[in-house]
Amino acid sequence: MSSPRLVLATHNAHKVAELRAILADLPRLAAEEIVGAGDVGGPEPVEDGVTFAENALIKARALVAHTGIAAVADDSGLAVDVLGGAPGIFSARWAGRHGDDQANLDLLLAQLSEVRAEHRGAAFVCAAALVTSDGHEHVETGQLRGRLLTAPRGQGGFGYDPILRPDGESRSCAELTPAEKNAISHRGQAFRALAPHISAALLAG
Ligand code: IMP
Repeated sequence: MSSPRLVLATHNAHKVAELRAILADLPRLAAEEIVGAGDVGGPEPVEDGVTFAENALIKARALVAHTGIAAVADDSGLAVDVLGGAPGIFSARWAGRHGDDQANLDLLLAQLSEVRAEHRGAAFVCAAALVTSDGHEHVETGQLRGRLLTAPRGQGGFGYDPILRPDGESRSCAELTPAEKNAISHRGQAFRALAPHISAALLAG
């Protein structure tokens, strides 16, 4: 078995598969050379940055320090126009308990209950960071803009997917297939933009 050359800062197997698919076209990098943080006993650093980019870099740097090989990390969330970009970096724990998607979504809908449709603009935002073993760092961002619905729609996806309807779409993100969402998503955009930088870094390394 070939040894890993790139580690992704996530313990979520679904995200590893998603990122492998995006990076599949990279020359010089086979799918089995990409592993998740769980495969290498990766650390869980305190994410005390105040931007998505800072938090993505914190996660990637911690993994590089732990493994000695290049790392990619992402940080993402929902930025609501009328809330000045909140929940933002607090998206996963907006209602107080980390990862309680239902409570987060319910609280946000309640907060916006009197906000009219034309003021319900929002975006999923993602920063994806690459850090190499020689300290080279690069960050790319992606955005999926849309409007917040007044009630959840659809069974797919996670987090705030049921209440964001992307611009130009009639369906919520939770009503899109995974492939449809990946094609337009903030994470897909950020990782596709980062891919050539990963390729160049591995070529140089
Ligand atoms: P993380 O980057 O995986 O830590 O995501 C942070 C939080 O942002 C998640 O818990 C979700 O609440 C929200 N979020 C990020 N990306 C998405 C998405 O694609 N759909 C729905 N919610 C998202």
